[in-house]
Amino acid sequence: MATLARPLTDAAAAPTAPAMPDALLPVYRRAPMEMVDGAGITLRDADGRSYLDFTSGIAVNALGYGDAGLRAALHAAADGLLHVSNLFRTAPGERLAAKLAARSFADRVFFCNSGAEANEGAFKIARRWARAHGGAAKHEIIAVRGSFHGRLFGTLAATDRPGYRTPFRPLAGGISVVERDLDTLRAAIDAERTAAVILEPVQGEGGVRVLEPAFLRAVRELTRERGVLLILDEIQCGLGRTGRLFGYEHAGVEPDLMTLAKPLAGGLPMGAVLMTEDVASAMQAGDHGSTFGGGPFVAAVAEHVLDRVSDPALLQHVTETGRWFGEQLQKLAMRTGRVRAVRGVGFMWGADTHEGAGAVVGRARDAGLLLVTAGDHTLRFLPPLVATREELGAGLELLDGALRAGPG
Ligand code: PLP
Repeated sequence: MATLARPLTDAAAAPTAPAMPDALLPVYRRAPMEMVDGAGITLRDADGRSYLDFTSGIAVNALGYGDAGLRAALHAAADGLLHVSNLFRTAPGERLAAKLAARSFADRVFFCNSGAEANEGAFKIARRWARAHGGAAKHEIIAVRGSFHGRLFGTLAATDRPGYRTPFRPLAGGISVVERDLDTLRAAIDAERTAAVILEPVQGEGGVRVLEPAFLRAVRELTRERGVLLILDEIQCGLGRTGRLFGYEHAGVEPDLMTLAKPLAGGLPMGAVLMTEDVASAMQAGDHGSTFGGGPFVAAVAEHVLDRVSDPALLQHVTETGRWFGEQLQKLAMRTGRVRAVRGVGFMWGADTHEGAGAVVGRARDAGLLLVTAGDHTLRFLPPLVATREELGAGLELLDGALRAGPG
């Protein structure tokens, strides 16, 4: 059982309102425990059991739970305006956009409320630019094998998960998924028809696959040659998770657009589309919008998160501790004989298991370690970026036991 980094409040364990699980749409396979409190990288359930969290709320809680700086930023933001809509200017969103632009390739930023929404926005913006440069025929979006870009209509068409797609056909048109290799992309990209290619520098849901820097550079070159935009989806791998502020920095390439979400506002819903001035210049007032996007409360909190995950000391910690974590995972794989392959970078790792990954996740949870899968046979490790070697080592010991308790 994990030990807590700081004592959790008694109130947290007190019974809450009666559960009404039947009122929720049953689209999630939720674990049975009800989470009520957290500190550092530890979560506690309503029965008082604590768990080391290697999921970070699926790559959201970069600063862990109960972070003092994040709480202070939230309280300060709550004293100001929460929402006024995009009918008016507000300073926090303007400041956040300026900082995101200053710290990335981008010149302009559009704010929305989730990852899928950010990618939908990026698709629209790419099409607008492509229409301006090649007419209506130039509208197709190309994604690659293993991709996950969201579950709204446009993004579902770019997400390589047959189980998610099939029940909702026909999917949005003009969006296709092709093999993740250069020859296929060379054949698929047509300067007359293609508006954009979208890639995750590290595919998350698709099995934690780190795209080769050389592949990313080659796609960048190819898209530039053919007059096609490159969209990088850094919703899961961006904002410090790979040890750089943005995943593309590892390859030394710059996209035309990039999407962010998950950790951006510390657990509040927020997404962003970042783009160059060239791309932005195709967009006119009224072309896109969002009631809540970039509101003052969420933007003020996101500014705090951005400053924290931009801190070179945190990025160095993620790089060095992440490398160590990968080595430990490799050793665990050799030691237990239950893991076929280990992949990853920074605080984003995957381990392919012989048995179904869901069974391992269940046993790890029973032992006090929270994991998420990335496909049927891949365990995914996404600990908060503030996790220490000691905490990660404690989690790996629980994982060792959970793996060995399965079939040999
Ligand atoms: N893109 C990537 C790479 C993701 O990992 C996800 C979510 O897992 C999304 C897009 C969709 O984000 P959201 O669930 O916020 O819509």
